Amino acid sequence: MHIATATPAWAMLAYLVAGICFILALRGLSSPASSRKGNRYGMAGMTLAVGTTLITHMNVGIIEIAIAIGIGAVIGLVTARRIAMTDMPQLVAAFHSLVGLAAVLVAAAAYLNPQAFGIVDAAGQIFTVSRIEMGLGIAIGAITFSGSVIAFLKLNGNMSGTPIMLPGRHLINIGTLAAIIGLIGYFLTDQSPWIFWTVTALSFVIGFLLIIPIGGADMPVVVSMLNSYSGWAAAAMGFTLQNTAMIITGALVGSSGAILSYIMCKAMNRSFISVIAGGFGAAPEAGSGGAAKVDRPWKRGSADDAAFLMSQAEQVIIVPGYGMAVAQAQHALREMGDLLKKEGVRVKYAIHPVAGRMPGHMNVLLAEANVPYDEVFELEDINGEFAQTDVAFVIGANDVTNPAAKTDKSSPIYGMPVLDVEKAKTVLFVKRSMGGVGYAGVDNDVFYMDQTMMLLADAKKMVDDICKALQH
Ligand code: NDP
Repeated sequence: MHIATATPAWAMLAYLVAGICFILALRGLSSPASSRKGNRYGMAGMTLAVGTTLITHMNVGIIEIAIAIGIGAVIGLVTARRIAMTDMPQLVAAFHSLVGLAAVLVAAAAYLNPQAFGIVDAAGQIFTVSRIEMGLGIAIGAITFSGSVIAFLKLNGNMSGTPIMLPGRHLINIGTLAAIIGLIGYFLTDQSPWIFWTVTALSFVIGFLLIIPIGGADMPVVVSMLNSYSGWAAAAMGFTLQNTAMIITGALVGSSGAILSYIMCKAMNRSFISVIAGGFGAAPEAGSGGAAKVDRPWKRGSADDAAFLMSQAEQVIIVPGYGMAVAQAQHALREMGDLLKKEGVRVKYAIHPVAGRMPGHMNVLLAEANVPYDEVFELEDINGEFAQTDVAFVIGANDVTNPAAKTDKSSPIYGMPVLDVEKAKTVLFVKRSMGGVGYAGVDNDVFYMDQTMMLLADAKKMVDDICKALQH
């Protein structure tokens, strides 16, 4: 059976159109207002690319492929419907692991049966260029797979988010990476199975070694970095399968993931190298801003107090975080915003780039609740306004408002830009208890400030109660 067939001109054109759809999809997804259109372009491009590939490969067991697509579609549909918004990062990590595994399986299939892929000369030698593609595909695919599995286990709580630091890990990592690169080089001159399988095994190991020292707070960057790897692995395999659409899609995923990692590193004030080197997000040492110090004085407020303070304000800035997602309070929050606007209050939403548990988490939830896009502001566009704001309403956010990031060098979030909520005249802080800490596991000085009023309750319940108070 021959898998790689010469691509007819119409199919090349179809792949080109699919590629344009993917570019338009990325463009659309860059803003919440156009994201639905972007998604539609992505779906159209993918349907075109998959359809074209199927039509041009009718000779390769189309029934088996249709069954595989059917099974995959059912699993995808059920998972997507059941998954809670808060578990999205794990789901993304799990999907990346599958892309990595697919690249490994394609490279292994091409290696075991190169004739079927048309990548072999008359003497039975695999073409040099195909060996490069195969080596890269298997290495990046295996790293993506094992790295994503560890990211999944950490995000899902099956494994501690605390960095695991092996002694001499930098030396072990550099040695293993050098061995992989050296063996891929050797593979160009010798296609023996031991070389191929050693590269595969070492790549699985390095994926594991690279992710275990990465702590919780760096996970957003890691997930987007693994996204980028999965794209490059797919692009490498696109060359082996001689599939233009796969090369284009892989390159787009690879480069957009890399750009997103860069943007997130900037948002957290981290260099990409220090993320890869790991260790950030370690449990804080005792006495260096650790878990909540409940013995400090703080003020408790009620829904009625909050409703009164906000209805008297000229401007309220709402700062949503992970707890809003947990409580699914976005719809109630929009209603609260509407009621305040009726009272003549200016309402704005401030979004930190790593609020929640995945990039764009808050934007998606606010968009779902139909919060007007022109009320939603990014950190750099709104941070200057807190000083002139009457009320900062922090709902289920913690780390992204923690001023220790600006001042406390021993804090695990030191250096991350944060929303300056403490500069507002009054801070209303919604969370369930004084003991609960955020993702980085650190206490927040804002809880204990004179102008802060703690609203201790589930976020949705508290906002519902505030809405009732505003209606009266
Ligand atoms: P945090 O995790 O810092 O804080 C969440 C807060 O929500 C806690 O104070 C918690 O306190 C409160 N909370 C939880 N459930 C509820 C509820 N039902 N009702 C009310 N409050 C609730 O969230 P942030 O959004 O401020 O920060 C995000 C953190 O996650 C950062 O450290 C970031 O680096 C990290 N991260 C971000 C990712 C991303 O891509 N955005 C991915 C992975 C990690 P209590 O328990 O007392 O209620």
